[in-house]
Amino acid sequence: MEKDRFHVQEQFALEMKDEAWLNAILFYRYANEIYSRFDEWKDEKRFYFIKLKIRTIDFAREGEFPMFKDPVYLGSFVRNVLEYEDYFTAACPDCGHKIYPYRYRGFPYGGGNVELHASCPSCGWTGHVNKSGWGIYRSTMEATQKTDDVHLMIYERANPDFKPAQMTDLLEYLSSLPVNEG
Ligand SMILES: [Zn+2]
Repeated sequence: MEKDRFHVQEQFALEMKDEAWLNAILFYRYANEIYSRFDEWKDEKRFYFIKLKIRTIDFAREGEFPMFKDPVYLGSFVRNVLEYEDYFTAACPDCGHKIYPYRYRGFPYGGGNVELHASCPSCGWTGHVNKSGWGIYRSTMEATQKTDDVHLMIYERANPDFKPAQMTDLLEYLSSLPVNEG
């Protein structure tokens, strides 16, 4: 198992057998590839509706002011970022390339800041960029989630045996599981 910056929370998620959390951690690691190949998986409902548990606030404030309904569907999260790039993407502080967040955290208190956490697909910079407008982020994502909830309801009515995939299935599908990144 990799010992990267997500290693500790991965151990917790494994102990808790929390699949949506484990899906989220894999998304954190491979987000750039998942974003860039959106067209290859977005029409597969089992991938679109992969459940992610993405923490949007501090542990201590859990349940107080989440930025969106958690778990969130992978497709909803990615589509929302791609459709509202002005809000949900930023320029890499090192090289200026566009960065796509694998996670964002919001602080409704004070200035209403939002941290976009990302890795730069061009230069490898990793960190977060601060933006403002917590309320806009929240309402945008809320609208996206509502639309997708309706789509899923309709789809499940027609396909009662439907089950969403796990993130490992998508990575296998994209043949992007690394052999060994050390
Ligand atoms: Zn960069």
